Amino acid sequence: MKEACGVVGVVTPGRDAAWSCYDALYALQHRGQESAGMAAYQDGRITVTKDNGLVSHVFADAALSALGGELVIGHTRYSTSGSANWTAAQPVYRSAGSAGFALAHNGNLTNTAALAAAAGLETSHYLSDSDLVAELLAREIERGATLPAALAEVLARAEGAFSMVVLEAGALHAVRDPHGFRPLCLGRLGPPEAPTGWVAASESPALDVVGATLVREVEPGEMVTITASGVTTTRLLAPAAGPQRLCIFEFVYFARPDAYLLGHQVHSARRRMGERLAHAAPVAADLVMGVPDSGVPAAEGYAQASGIPFGHGLVKNRYIGRTFIAPDPAQRAAGVRRKLNALRETITGRRLVVVDDSIVRGTTTRALVAMLREAGAAEVHLRISSPPFAWPCYYGIDTPTRDELLAARYDLAGMRDFIGCDSLAFISLADLRDAVGLAEGCCDACLTGEYPAPIPVTLDGARGRW
Ligand code: AMP
Repeated sequence: MKEACGVVGVVTPGRDAAWSCYDALYALQHRGQESAGMAAYQDGRITVTKDNGLVSHVFADAALSALGGELVIGHTRYSTSGSANWTAAQPVYRSAGSAGFALAHNGNLTNTAALAAAAGLETSHYLSDSDLVAELLAREIERGATLPAALAEVLARAEGAFSMVVLEAGALHAVRDPHGFRPLCLGRLGPPEAPTGWVAASESPALDVVGATLVREVEPGEMVTITASGVTTTRLLAPAAGPQRLCIFEFVYFARPDAYLLGHQVHSARRRMGERLAHAAPVAADLVMGVPDSGVPAAEGYAQASGIPFGHGLVKNRYIGRTFIAPDPAQRAAGVRRKLNALRETITGRRLVVVDDSIVRGTTTRALVAMLREAGAAEVHLRISSPPFAWPCYYGIDTPTRDELLAARYDLAGMRDFIGCDSLAFISLADLRDAVGLAEGCCDACLTGEYPAPIPVTLDGARGRW
């Protein structure tokens, strides 16, 4: 079960937090479109509302008003694991403790089976990584542990990626794994000398939308606890060896361009990726265009550095989500036509530089190139602002298996032929790291096969072992 998701937690003493949590979740909709949910603590009780669908579909005004709560957590879920499954929606709730607790998780644990086996649980006893963690926490609490003590105990044994928010009677905890794979930041409502509330969220735009100021990242291995009386911090988990490992793909594709990750704005990083590509992989062309949305900032950077005019050659249907996860190739190709349409007058007769952030399976990219040719493009030169994506992610980004990844199947010329473009170039890893500005501190396992934490399967080939 894979979960690449958005999480948020809001505490507003004296005021309902559900509306703010809704706004923050809405700002994180791109991190998960399969299900949405919130858990609110009020009058000694935790109430969970969750369902399949977009944030705006799951929460009508009436549902929000009914939720209330001065402490609220929320979740948007993104998964490719089979059909939409209501039971896997989050937050997950357990009744252990005075009011029970609710948990929302972004990331993937890589030792789920071992954790479950150690606790004597069959796979049929839990629905997802998060459900298993909730079950293990509940058992600790039933043995007399507090929720923070249970978190310390259970998460010390968990491997892989977890940025989670956990709600109990009167307190909200935001926890990050020792590598810091998935983002999680902390924001403040009101002035520093008299805060009126606190927000924890996967990305900073969720703070902006509720008027909170970004204070800092939750540190890898840290637990930030928010109550009506303020914020406290605990080093919950022993630090991992080496630098923090924020996912480099957050910069490439996943995060919103207006997000700040480790002090770097994603949009600026994407522009710099395009500039580097222009220097490393120049080509004579008439127009530089980006594949909406995530390819556009890098296309701007490419245009500026190359001096080739930037233009919009594709129109995106703004009511459509991320099509990547449709299960079969024909559906994904149709998804491209549903999502993108070519601007003929911009394209006809032109030599195009087309910039996109990544090629994963290659199916949508191939359909896109065909569409541009149909619209009369004279040449299509594809420039990709990530290195070849050749290794699956086990830390919370949904990716296909290795044999489905285009870069694992073909060399550069083979990829170019599969996609049908005139030329193809990828940014180098060194240039990408440079553009992001975090030379040492990222997880780039999907690009290198060097996995910083154990993964659940043995890989073929010499790399990627642990
Ligand atoms: P494809 O040509 O089928 O490999 O699809 C490439 C497109 O998928 C690019 O435009 C990316 O922006 C997008 N993409 C990359 N990774 C993901 C992901 N994990 N989920 C959804 N879309 C993605």
